[in-house]
Amino acid sequence: GKGKWNKFDEKDLLLTYNALKVLEARYLLKDPNTLRYIETPQMMFRRVASYLAGVERQYGKGEEEVKRIEEEFYKVLSQLKFLPNTPTLMNSGTRLGILSACFVIPVRDSMVTPNGEGIYDALRAMAVVHQQGGGTGFDFSELRPKGDVVASTAGVASGPISFMRIFDVSTDVVKQGGKRRGANMGVMHVWHSDIEDFIKAKTGQLKDVQLQNFNISVGVYDYFMQAVERGETVPLINPRKTRINGKDYEYYIVKARGYMEEEWIQEEILRELEERGGSVYLDESVIITVDEALAIAEKEGAITRWVNARQLFDEIVKGAWDSGDPGLLFIDAINRRHPVWYLGKIQATNPCGEEPLLSWESCNLGSINLEKFVVEREGRPTIDWEGLAETIRYGVRLLDNVIDANRYPLKQIEEATKKTRKVGLGVMGLARMLIKLGIPYDSVDAVYLSYQLAKFIYYHALKASIELAKEKGSFPAYDSRRYKDVWESAMPFDHLISIVGVEGKVSSDVKKLTEVVDRLDFDQLKAERIKHGIRNSTVVSVAPTGTISIIAGTSSSIEPLFALAFVRNVAVGKFIEIDPLFLAYLRKYELDDPEVVKKVAETGMIGENPFMPKTMRRVFRTAHEVSPEFHLLHQASWQQWNDSGTSKTINLRSEEPPETVERVYLLAWKLGIKGVTVYRDKSKSQQVIYFGIKK
Ligand code: UDP
Repeated sequence: GKGKWNKFDEKDLLLTYNALKVLEARYLLKDPNTLRYIETPQMMFRRVASYLAGVERQYGKGEEEVKRIEEEFYKVLSQLKFLPNTPTLMNSGTRLGILSACFVIPVRDSMVTPNGEGIYDALRAMAVVHQQGGGTGFDFSELRPKGDVVASTAGVASGPISFMRIFDVSTDVVKQGGKRRGANMGVMHVWHSDIEDFIKAKTGQLKDVQLQNFNISVGVYDYFMQAVERGETVPLINPRKTRINGKDYEYYIVKARGYMEEEWIQEEILRELEERGGSVYLDESVIITVDEALAIAEKEGAITRWVNARQLFDEIVKGAWDSGDPGLLFIDAINRRHPVWYLGKIQATNPCGEEPLLSWESCNLGSINLEKFVVEREGRPTIDWEGLAETIRYGVRLLDNVIDANRYPLKQIEEATKKTRKVGLGVMGLARMLIKLGIPYDSVDAVYLSYQLAKFIYYHALKASIELAKEKGSFPAYDSRRYKDVWESAMPFDHLISIVGVEGKVSSDVKKLTEVVDRLDFDQLKAERIKHGIRNSTVVSVAPTGTISIIAGTSSSIEPLFALAFVRNVAVGKFIEIDPLFLAYLRKYELDDPEVVKKVAETGMIGENPFMPKTMRRVFRTAHEVSPEFHLLHQASWQQWNDSGTSKTINLRSEEPPETVERVYLLAWKLGIKGVTVYRDKSKSQQVIYFGIKK
């Protein structure tokens, strides 16, 4: 109503100019007839808070309690301490019902199937999800290779990549009503016969041409990475020709080779073997060896070729160096650290990699703005750990409510999502938090802080989910005995540092700053989980926060600042940005002269600028000044305390050689990261963010 417009809300003053522009262009509701705005930013936050708090009624909460929860939600949103992913902000309380950003859809080797999992069923599912602002991931490795037979028509198969092109065109056509461009992840596992074509699908002449709505990733296994290191050959397989499909076959090779030696895997093998009773992989009583498995595959005619693992890897590296694609997904790391591993094997992730999901699962994300938790105490900046813990608690509750508030476009998605109730609490504003604390991003101190923050957030998110289980019950697929506490397999900090081999020690200041984390008792938490259950099968995830970080006015995700001044190309136009923290520092040193700013803006960085104060040069480190090793160390730190994935771009300078990409990919595997992507500056014609203003 009109009256609301007269109520100017001061809280809107927290929003930056860019935030307002983004909100105006895509988030604030308009009257569909007049196209005039019918809400302000605060009204949007209120809409989200009230809609999501309303879910509590389903759990028998009284109106007073619902109102109290609404106020808590509203508080964290309006103070920009926590924001849910874009679809939740856009669609809460509106006619569109999808509130989640992440989906994984299965693609079986058939046009359509009775249970809706064929190629064209997947295409349809994708269109519905994109229409409302969700992103989709697919594993295409079940599809028979190019040139293979099609029995029903006696024709020739056109292969996975040709089908991917249809998904790509459909994504272009749907364009999500202009609100959000559809994003996809296309995965192919490294054993597939068509893997070489897949690796080259977006590079060379096809760069900037083919599959532009896809990120592509090769699903690799430990056995493959080891074969790369040893220079061994690996088999390529036609999935149609094995009695069990190719990826299960691959899985068996992996298992049989003993790379997954943990007890839980053994247990799983026995269970699977039991279920498959009489399958070729059951050799009376024990698991067959690799050689035996290969002999069988050979007999079945499923092995099309043997290739040198090293050569295949080199092709992947060359592609990524040339165009950013393909990335890698480490399938073993993903499945080893999946709390509900007993529900099946994960084959794919959502578009940006932070959510490895089972077929048909969806996940909603939300991110904490770390910058907001830097406070002054006794004249020094420090971290408000208590405030952070409280925000985590409300964040997890809000995300859990999204699962119930969601209106699912397909029955399969609803079933899979409600069975595991995955949510992904992540962060944004790490770089700005570090600057405010005076810690350079590329320092051992910063990596240690990342490690400790991740641990703190994971602990409190798990705790919040256990509390919710007391109140509302565990997720339906919860099995107290088999649920995996993935924090038990977090690599120690020193181990990460020694793998990468960087110099330096954690300072006593930063040790002291994060002391509170050392006192967390995870064993006690486990005891509570066993006693009360847990509401969500996964609780954390580090998303890119591409848009919500603009709304919050902070740096995105766990990335360093991209540039101190840059041009940002987004759907709604071009923005020239000067980092406000940087500007504040310039003022402090009385350097806020337009000429100085213009000069800095030419390169976007000051690391090499001898006229800038030393402190500033140390603290204002940008993405291309940070070495790949430090990029990886941050990602690895956040991945250790995390039951899903960590989205991160390893940004490289344009002059980096392919060997750097090779080093990054190998290190990522050793650091236990679940997926890795590089982006070499200027390697694509269309870049969202450009360095410096003069381009
Ligand atoms: N996503 C999408 N289209 C986009 C951007 C994002 O479908 O244009 C999905 C995708 O699954 C991605 C997830 O949203 O992994 C989270 O991205 P981000 O954190 O950047 O989204 P935000 O909430 O900031 O808009």
